[in-house]
Amino acid sequence: MSDHAITLSSLAGEAIILGSGASAGTPVIGCPCAVCHSPDPRNRRTRASTVVKIAGQTLLIDTSPDLRLQALREGIHHLDAVLYTHPHADHLNGIDDLRAYCFHSRAAIPVFGNRFTIDNILERFGYACLPPGKYWDKPVLTPQAVDNPFQFQGLTITPIPLIHGPWEIFGWRIGNFAYLTDLNQLAESSLALLQGLDVLFLDCLREEPYPSHLGFGQALELAAVIGARQTVLIHMTHQMEYQDMLDRCPSGVVPGYDGLRLAFA
Ligand SMILES: [Zn+2]
Ligand SMILES: [Zn+2]
Ligand SMILES: [Zn+2]
Repeated sequence: MSDHAITLSSLAGEAIILGSGASAGTPVIGCPCAVCHSPDPRNRRTRASTVVKIAGQTLLIDTSPDLRLQALREGIHHLDAVLYTHPHADHLNGIDDLRAYCFHSRAAIPVFGNRFTIDNILERFGYACLPPGKYWDKPVLTPQAVDNPFQFQGLTITPIPLIHGPWEIFGWRIGNFAYLTDLNQLAESSLALLQGLDVLFLDCLREEPYPSHLGFGQALELAAVIGARQTVLIHMTHQMEYQDMLDRCPSGVVPGYDGLRLAFA
């Protein structure tokens, strides 16, 4: 076996979609539409978040307001780190549920994001970023701002700068898996960091374009440009019906759904 093959097999992992929905989730409270009343469980979407298991590490991407129910549903009993994309409420406001992991392990959880995101967390959730008290009754997080690929427990984790309306936020690449949510634009320099992907999770808010997200057609175009072996669409509103999307996806692209587990190599 060549060195190259050893590297690839050691980076095999699994991505689990905790939530495939947009900020309001699907169904939307009070909405009478057909998708919100669909009997297909793949049309029930909690807020966007994913867990990545790789090289013995369990990495959580974002803490959605649905984190507790997502973690219970998927049996996520331990976390090694949290990678934040950006501080919008649907990606951050479940941060308090990290308390259970700190409580059980009596350990702090490292959290990573860009400077803007980490400053927002410190400002809004400063109580979660303090040393532990006697009872571990608050989350104990150690926030770290990053702007380049970094090493974590022997893994290379690569932030992917994305344009999300007026904000510059992060997607993340771990091995040959990448997670790109909440973007309306991808710079050439970021595209260069996405070569050779096995599995890509990609923003697809709704049918039409939106100022800070990709619409369905734009997502398919970007998926073709990036060229991952498998692209999974995420962060969808109630406008998007699962089977209808699936029927219109080209080969190599599928809509995601809560609970979907995908191995990557
Ligand atoms: Zn979002
Ligand atoms: Zn609806
Ligand atoms: Zn956002």
